[in-house]
Amino acid sequence: MSLDFSDEQIQRYARHILLPQVGGHGQEKLLNAKVLVVGAGGLGSPVLMYLAAAGVGTIGVIDDDQVELSNLQRQIAHTTQSVGEPKVESAARTLKAINPDVNVIPYNDRFGPANALDLIAQYDLVTDGSDNFPTRFLVNDAAYFARRPLVTGAILRFDGQVATFKNFPGGGHEDGPCYRCIFREPPPPGQIPSCSEAGVLGVLCGTVGSLQATEVLKELLGIGDTLSGALLVYDALATQFRRIKVRRDPGCPLCGDAPTIKDLSIHDPNAELGCRG
Ligand code: ZN
Repeated sequence: MSLDFSDEQIQRYARHILLPQVGGHGQEKLLNAKVLVVGAGGLGSPVLMYLAAAGVGTIGVIDDDQVELSNLQRQIAHTTQSVGEPKVESAARTLKAINPDVNVIPYNDRFGPANALDLIAQYDLVTDGSDNFPTRFLVNDAAYFARRPLVTGAILRFDGQVATFKNFPGGGHEDGPCYRCIFREPPPPGQIPSCSEAGVLGVLCGTVGSLQATEVLKELLGIGDTLSGALLVYDALATQFRRIKVRRDPGCPLCGDAPTIKDLSIHDPNAELGCRG
């Protein structure tokens, strides 16, 4: 192998290197990749842990919450001992324990309109595990302006969703939608309950977060069919997946033919974010 792996790396990534679709070159791509994870909660936990295990070389994680006891039913990057600690520090410790190869960059900060663009621009791809509409729309808009692919996940009660957006110029899927093509704008506050109001089956975070991590790895490796152009919906009670085709909406205020959103100034820096999954 001409690649510059240590013996330990060859052992650690042996099951990836065996896959023709990954191989040594794919593993090298992952080691050189930089991914930003928004939220270190229910979805962020499995996403972060699988990306670290997979050897994604640089993982940024932003969250301004502390670990609470009520998080531990689903936020598996944190332990009982980390209650009261900033989530990004607790998560960074878990990731380093899984894979010391990975450079983890924790941001103990709120993801907001002031830092969104600069942060995303430092990474190859962003994945959103936040659990509130203001953040979800902000990540969508910022990823579009920064021209970075976005893999997004959402959960509530027994239902989950995963989608990929990369219809920015040069993103490779210009006919695909953005999040706003599907959900035009955030619902009025209080209309859709949050997980802290309506509950969530903890393990659903693992199912949806693992799907998100899978799509992130596929995008980084450039393998398989992209999820861009589809909304994957999972109903855990019925044990059913539905893949709904979605296209770019020419009337979309962000990515449409006559966009009205041209920067992040429509986002309220003081938006009430509610629970983070
Ligand atoms: Zn759009």
